[in-house]
Amino acid sequence: MPILTSYDPINRAPLGDVPITVPAQMPAVILRAKKAQKAWSALSLDERQQKVVQAYERLTSVEDQLALLISKEMGKDYRRADYEVTGTVQNAAYFTQEIAQALKTESMGHNGEMQYRPLGVVAVISPWNYPLAMANNLLLPALVAGNSVVVKPSEETPLVAELFVKTLNQVLPENVLQIAHGDADTGKALVNADINMVAFTGSLAAGKDIMASAASGLKRLVMELGGNDPLIVMASANIDEAVQFAVASSFENTGQMCTSTERIYVDERIADEFEQKVVALARRYQAGPWDQHNVNIGPIVNPKQHAKVLSQLEDAQIKGATFLLGNPHYDLPYIQPTVVTGITPDMLLEQDETFGPVVAISRFTELSEAIERANASPYGLGAVVFGGAGANAVAEQMEAGMVAINQGAGGLGPWVGAKQSGFGFHGTAAGHRQFSQLRIINK
Ligand code: NAD
Repeated sequence: MPILTSYDPINRAPLGDVPITVPAQMPAVILRAKKAQKAWSALSLDERQQKVVQAYERLTSVEDQLALLISKEMGKDYRRADYEVTGTVQNAAYFTQEIAQALKTESMGHNGEMQYRPLGVVAVISPWNYPLAMANNLLLPALVAGNSVVVKPSEETPLVAELFVKTLNQVLPENVLQIAHGDADTGKALVNADINMVAFTGSLAAGKDIMASAASGLKRLVMELGGNDPLIVMASANIDEAVQFAVASSFENTGQMCTSTERIYVDERIADEFEQKVVALARRYQAGPWDQHNVNIGPIVNPKQHAKVLSQLEDAQIKGATFLLGNPHYDLPYIQPTVVTGITPDMLLEQDETFGPVVAISRFTELSEAIERANASPYGLGAVVFGGAGANAVAEQMEAGMVAINQGAGGLGPWVGAKQSGFGFHGTAAGHRQFSQLRIINK
């Protein structure tokens, strides 16, 4: 049986193995999912809700193990890993209740009713950067809605997903939730199988491929894709607060976050002070192993992604950017905190998602120029504006699914991308209902 080995991103030491689901095995997986789904969907919404809550209660006994696995498999510091786990486990009952509430049959007066029916088999395909939370965000609403679920976790973090699913399956009926390990080939086989929906979180490139494959069966889609989030810092901004946000958001999760700040446009009237303070703060960050005390930036998840970040930095250097902190020459597996200014639209740092601990700054003279550059991206996940009066008007012009003023974007309400950052979303009643088929009964 082919196996997938999980590696420590710090030293590439093997951490454990899981069996790969090869494409030839997929039809049998889906057959089991279909059978299980019949009985699962025959339960009432209340019964499913109770079972799901009981299943998540089991996770409390493995919270530490899950957090440790997140740290080991992707190098995230333990405090953040623990936060990801407790957030997932402790909020599950609340969200399960919220989902069940959203799926209750609604009366249309004397004309009939609207029902939220299960779709059937849902594939959840997830990334490595929040290996527990990202799978959970899509799996939970899919299950409560009465679907059976096949999860294809990232090949970078299979052990987290394995423990998560195995623990939930101590309570859930057999085959309502299955796991299919492997790389993109397993993901493709799952998308092409006889399923009803793909709920995906990951890169734009994979999202496009999935969308094309899903077209033949008109499979339902939720696509939560990458970002290249801009931050506009107006002359009226509280500079210290803007600096705090710029650095924290560029470096959060080692910059490996879909809504991390990727591009900063700062008014040239305050740019000198802004840059000096950004560098002073960024110097206090230190990359290294997650279990060391003074470290707050972890390893880049794999050599390919490390090379991608370096190639963007090298490109910026060749095209004339100035490195205020760091350089484009780091050894595996770390990228030390890096601050670059003088970014221009022809640079890869501006054009593409970086996914590394890099603060990338451009100066502007006219606000309209900053807004134009912020919006000149195929991505449209989050966007942030720091400023006083006038910040509202700037925010209104941002082309993004989640826009925020003087704070980080997202986290309240649904998690939603615009343009090529998303298609469908999760969270709130509108999001929960995307894992169901709306059926109207006229009486
Ligand atoms: P990725 O697209 O390489 O992989 C994601 C998952 O898709 C993995 O399980 C992978 O095996 C699978 N996959 C890859 N190609 C596939 C294909 N053609 N068909 C089917 N499955 C396929 O992404 P990643 O490197 O794991 O994660 C990082 C990306 O995820 C970044 O772009 C980040 O912005 C994005 N992301 C977005 C959100 C959001 O909420 N919008 C959240 C987290 C991460």
